[in-house]
Amino acid sequence: MQHSQYLIIGAGISGLSMARMLHEQSKDYLLLEKSDRPGGLVKCDVIDGHLFHRVGGHVFNTKIPAVKDWFWAHFNREEEFLQTERQAGIRMDEKTIGYPIENYLYMLPEELIRSIFGELATLSANGKKDPMSYDNFEAFLRGNFGDTLYKLYFEPFNRKIWQTDLSTIALPWLEGKLPMPDYKEIILSNVLRKEEKNMVHSRFFYPRKNGSQFIANRLAEGLKLITGVEADSIEHKESRWIVNSAYSADVLIFTGDLRRLAEIMKNNSGSLQSQLEGVQSLKSHGTSTLLCETDTTPLSWLYLPNSNTPAHRIIFTGNFSPKNNPPEGRRSCTVEFSGNTSVKEMRNALKKLPFNLNHVADNYEPNSYVIQRNGDRERIAALKSSLAKQHFYLVGRFAEWEYHNMDKAMESGMVLLGDGVRG
Ligand SMILES: Cc1cc2nc3c(=O)[nH]c(=O)nc-3n(C[C@H](O)[C@H](O)[C@H](O)COP(=O)(O)OP(=O)(O)OC[C@H]3O[C@@H](n4cnc5c(N)ncnc54)[C@H](O)[C@@H]3O)c2cc1C
Repeated sequence: MQHSQYLIIGAGISGLSMARMLHEQSKDYLLLEKSDRPGGLVKCDVIDGHLFHRVGGHVFNTKIPAVKDWFWAHFNREEEFLQTERQAGIRMDEKTIGYPIENYLYMLPEELIRSIFGELATLSANGKKDPMSYDNFEAFLRGNFGDTLYKLYFEPFNRKIWQTDLSTIALPWLEGKLPMPDYKEIILSNVLRKEEKNMVHSRFFYPRKNGSQFIANRLAEGLKLITGVEADSIEHKESRWIVNSAYSADVLIFTGDLRRLAEIMKNNSGSLQSQLEGVQSLKSHGTSTLLCETDTTPLSWLYLPNSNTPAHRIIFTGNFSPKNNPPEGRRSCTVEFSGNTSVKEMRNALKKLPFNLNHVADNYEPNSYVIQRNGDRERIAALKSSLAKQHFYLVGRFAEWEYHNMDKAMESGMVLLGDGVRG
């Protein structure tokens, strides 16, 4: 049996960041990963010279000071990264309009502009209500942006992404990710026709080569990492955690899918087992992606709310770094579809999309988006608290069931290792 003080399961960004922190503190740890390489959702491949973000197109940005300092202590910002400005658009019928939509209403037909501004004026005149005081995601969008904008853009786009009734989505969970209405800004942007610059990801960092796989590989350098091992049995015996009857640890950190724990964890107390079973029905869905060649465009993201296509977004990853494209030939992009979309359906969808897209490769990732419904957070918090009493910690997008970006995944690891676990 191989013993370490800390055993981390999963070498996505969460597991890699925590292992890196422990490594640099000279702690005794081991990192296990079921896949043949680290990265999890941020994995990339190079196919015929095109960089393929297997799940979406990952860029780096953070407003969390501690994460910013930690991240840039591990990367050379000037030499290893490019800083790029976001150029996002929304495809409405045959026309591309600016993003975020509320600042580009002047690009819509007159009758829609009249209807949307009429509703925004009423909402604004009704006085300032806390934008987060609504019961669910649908109520938030309707209450803050009006019914016309909701039906035209927010509803069709978000329904494609989340594949669920927006009124069942809990609001606190999306905090920090939501478009916040600023009526003065909306009026000014539409009158002055100037771009809004202060959005999340309005500027972002991107590795010069190898995309987000570069970030994973750098974090993994020199770590005690064993790949190709899936933790499929976890047991607590004599104050130690035993994994696959081969590894033991005083502290166990799990970054995989918490719904699987009811099956993986053996000999649990009755109350723990019922807590584990209580999270088995959490809802998630996956992402299908098509790597394509594309005509040249200045866009970085194109959002696709239209119901005439099952795709919801094109990410022009070829514009993020020149190295993402073959030396000669067309540029690269990734077309995203929610859920398990067949290659045939994805290829068919290309016919209705702009820029003469041509299929190069494809992928389906069953677990990409977590969905939190009312009550989920409380159940997960109770489970986390029970496990923590036995030095078992849940960290990461699917372990905490949070809509974490890479920076939040890093922060979560930092908080645990700084506050929760003492070696
Ligand atoms: C479409 C899309 C686009 C995104 N874009 C961005 C972006 O632009 N910028 C950004 O910052 N974030 C982005 N994100 C979020 C980002 O992907 C996540 O924050 C981050 O990858 C989460 O890392 P993680 O380690 O928590 O989870 P994961 O990446 O899921 O890693 C978990 C790891 O654990 C392993 N594992 C699971 N179970 C076991 C087991 N039993 N035994 C052994 N190993 C196991 C898995 O193989 C995996 O490697 C995006 C996400 C999606 C879905």
